[in-house]
Amino acid sequence: MSRSVLVTGGNRGIGLAIARAFADAGDKVAITYRSGEPPKDLTAAGVLAVKCDITDAEMVEQAYKEIEEKHGAVEVLVANAGITKDQLLMRMSEEDFTSVLDTNLTGTFRVVKRANRGMLRAKKGRVVLISSVVGLYGSPGQANYAASKAGLVGFARSLARELGSRNLTFNVVAPGFVDTDMTQVLTDEQRANIVSQVPLGRYAKPEEIAAAVKFLASDDASYITGAVIPVDGGLGM
Ligand code: NAD
Repeated sequence: MSRSVLVTGGNRGIGLAIARAFADAGDKVAITYRSGEPPKDLTAAGVLAVKCDITDAEMVEQAYKEIEEKHGAVEVLVANAGITKDQLLMRMSEEDFTSVLDTNLTGTFRVVKRANRGMLRAKKGRVVLISSVVGLYGSPGQANYAASKAGLVGFARSLARELGSRNLTFNVVAPGFVDTDMTQVLTDEQRANIVSQVPLGRYAKPEEIAAAVKFLASDDASYITGAVIPVDGGLGM
């Protein structure tokens, strides 16, 4: 059965792998992206790409209107868009903090709230939020990012309790270190240090995160809600 799936930040990295996984399964996939151009092969394969900054409530509303017109109400939402602005606390400006919270946490609130309108009407829905192991265990220089990603866990679990009786599920995937643009900023030494702490001895491929997301959105996960699934090569255990 082909579902209307929305992946925020689906033009690259983990979001792109998630969008491809759903598109390959025959779903009607829409992605939002903030800047640049979405990959041509993705749009050629029928994926609807909508430019949308999730910090802008009006853009979010317009994006949903376009998706609903072309694909129908969103049945599976993957809230993946996120940013980092790493800094040690004493050098972290208020803007460094609030901009990360506004994108990762409040931006997710915006897209989830809007998706729920259609899901409540349909009496079913699947929401998967992309958090991070950093949100579960913390990381020096990433207090803003960790706070935003930990916030997603409380957000999802509250909604799982609030809306379980309406047949909506809310789950969280917490990736470890994944080979994407976001982790390209690390030095070779930092990368080697991280890999040495990962029991599986390597970074994740974006497709490995996508596989967990796809499972949580599938019928096989029909009795799973409020779960936080680490996909971290054993890093956090
Ligand atoms: P990335 O930087 O390659 O992609 C981030 C995506 O988010 C991009 O598509 C970007 O356009 C989008 N985005 C950012 N701000 C936005 C905004 N205001 N409005 C709309 N879209 C916006 O990063 P990635 O590594 O693919 O990360 C994807 C998600 O996974 C993020 O939430 C990130 O925090 C999380 N994550 C990544 C890793 C990792 O190691 N790469 C680990 C754990 C969690």
